[in-house]
Amino acid sequence: MAYAFPCAAAKKCGGCQLTNLTYEEQLSFKQAKVIRLLGKFCRVNEIIPSPSPWHYRNKVQAAFGVTRGGEIISGVYQSSTHNIVKVDSCMLENETADAIIVTVRSLLRSFKLTAYNERNGTGFLRHVLVKTAFGTGEVMVVLVTATREFPSKNNFCKALLAKHPEITTIVQNVNDKHTSLVLGESETVLYGGGTITDELLGKKFIISPKSFYQINYEATKLLYGKALEFADLTHGDRVIDAYAGVGTIGLLASDTAGEVISVELNPDAVADAKRNAKLNGVKNMRFFCADATDFLREMAAAGEKADVVLMDPPRAGSTVPFMKSVCSLAPKRVVYVSCDPETLARDLNFFARNGYKVRKIQPVDMFPHTQHCEVIVSMSRGGSKL
Ligand code: SAH
Repeated sequence: MAYAFPCAAAKKCGGCQLTNLTYEEQLSFKQAKVIRLLGKFCRVNEIIPSPSPWHYRNKVQAAFGVTRGGEIISGVYQSSTHNIVKVDSCMLENETADAIIVTVRSLLRSFKLTAYNERNGTGFLRHVLVKTAFGTGEVMVVLVTATREFPSKNNFCKALLAKHPEITTIVQNVNDKHTSLVLGESETVLYGGGTITDELLGKKFIISPKSFYQINYEATKLLYGKALEFADLTHGDRVIDAYAGVGTIGLLASDTAGEVISVELNPDAVADAKRNAKLNGVKNMRFFCADATDFLREMAAAGEKADVVLMDPPRAGSTVPFMKSVCSLAPKRVVYVSCDPETLARDLNFFARNGYKVRKIQPVDMFPHTQHCEVIVSMSRGGSKL
């Protein structure tokens, strides 16, 4: 009998692409894909499974809308459309976050608030974003509204907190633009401190509504653990952490490194990273808010050197000038964390042609049931031993 994926919305939602495969089959599928794309560089280690293949998402987002019949619905956009598929619970998402979103929807009715209507640009609530720190249990709710005005907001928050005392902060984010981006510019803290703090591998991390944080907590521990193992730092190393997000990998590396230079484009993430360093009493890190390519180009032009470069770019991968600059900083090791094996293959070709040899490849399943796969690669200068 064919495997039955336990979700009624799967076909319309499109969020899970591997619903016809059991989890074991998914792992084999991803392993084969990574071997096909990267096997020519070196042997590929056995994929590390996600410790929990279900309900692993710590960041949950729901779009709100109104049906033609006037009913308020929440869920996800049907793939490549702006039709909302009603979803009350998802097999990938944190269950408490899903319950909070359903509560928000029912409170809208009792507070006579409306959901945003994309057809004519009227209405109030556009999205709800819930971020949960699995390590500490802290929960952030971000209400993305089309207007700044939020009638009875205090009572609304009180009612939400009464149903979900686990919520530690509520933020209103105003998005008044005709855009498919979820979050707008302006933010008002309605309850709590406006951020949550997670604990991961012995360090604390502050997370704000806009900054990037890995979405699968248990798998992230394994991912970062492997990345550090691959970095194989020795005391005193000068380390660059590029595409650093809220500074997670660099902060973990700072225990061993002599110095960590962290570069990240998103100013909110950099602000969080600086706070994270303070929170953890880390004094050997410097943080730069810049385009990683520009930043490394300048370092290379100034004749700087580094011992280890850690890089974790978005799906598009890195750029040729970035990688050229890495090569001229002449690190003994480059650890590349990638969320897209295709752009990784392209970038490894560049490194391979410019004096770096791929030594280890480790796939990690951060996103069960989806087609995505995270891969960590360790490279060192050609000819040298590991
Ligand atoms: N290493 C972090 C973040 C990885 S996600 C972690 O593990 O949590 C990729 C990060 O690259 C995001 O934070 C994104 O804001 C950042 N980014 C995207 N383009 C960039 C660029 N051109 N220069 C620097 N950082 C960039």
